Amino acid sequence: MGLKITLLAHTPDPERTAAAAARQCYSKFSATKAYGDLSMEDISKLLRKIISSGHLSVLEHASFTFVVEGISRACSHQLVRHRIASYSQQSQRYVKFDELDFVIPDSVANDGESMRVFLSALEGCREAYSRLLANGIPAEDARYILPQASPTKIVVTMNARALLNFFELRCCLSAQWEIRKVAEEMLSLVKGVAPTIFENAGPFCVSRRICPEKKYSCPKWVELYKKGSA
Ligand SMILES: Cc1cc2nc3c(=O)[nH]c(=O)nc-3n(C[C@H](O)[C@H](O)[C@H](O)COP(=O)(O)OP(=O)(O)OC[C@H]3O[C@@H](n4cnc5c(N)ncnc54)[C@H](O)[C@@H]3O)c2cc1C
Repeated sequence: MGLKITLLAHTPDPERTAAAAARQCYSKFSATKAYGDLSMEDISKLLRKIISSGHLSVLEHASFTFVVEGISRACSHQLVRHRIASYSQQSQRYVKFDELDFVIPDSVANDGESMRVFLSALEGCREAYSRLLANGIPAEDARYILPQASPTKIVVTMNARALLNFFELRCCLSAQWEIRKVAEEMLSLVKGVAPTIFENAGPFCVSRRICPEKKYSCPKWVELYKKGSA
């Protein structure tokens, strides 16, 4: 299977929740009252104000749970480096893989000779894994032979603030292609349920009009440079 990302669940009304928390900070009324009273316009105004002022902790009250399937172990390793999140990953100790549908980068797939090298190595791993299991080696030990191209499934929960940071780092053109695909898909899903919080979300060149990477070969950097904000 290819990459599949599902937004499994989220805080019921994520923007209203964050906005009610923000309103309580600045008024004598409780968030309970604000939650019921705020109009859509109030919510958007409040959220834009707290985001531009950097009062981002109120965004932590809105959380989002994704199921990420069909990514490689190379990608999931990058994903779980984001510590402000919760993860549940399919175990290679308990799940024996009958069929391994490896993730193959385009750079390899588009080059005949490289693809042959890659597939022959993968076939070797697949065969070794099956033989180790057949010899009675437990899955937790047989898995040592599995490559980074092995597919995995992982449930990820992040709050809106952690997601904004994740998108800044991982939607950037200098992020690795697979984690960037994951981040871009997650961004498109959360935009559907929290459009104001994520309206300016994306890599630093989108969210803050700066480029910490200063990667001169990046077309986005050139754009910023021409506008004088690189
Ligand atoms: C292009 C790119 C290349 C990378 N290359 C490498 C690499 O070569 N090697 C490598 O090891 N990693 C690499 N990383 C991973 C990177 O260093 C981070 O571990 C990863 O992006 C998670 O980011 P984060 O810490 O901001 O996220 P989170 O862990 O979710 O943290 C979010 C924010 O919380 C705060 N925070 C969290 N924990 C702490 C803490 N202990 N102390 C203080 N503040 C904290 C920080 O402000 C942090 O930005 C790379 C990342 C990118 C995007």
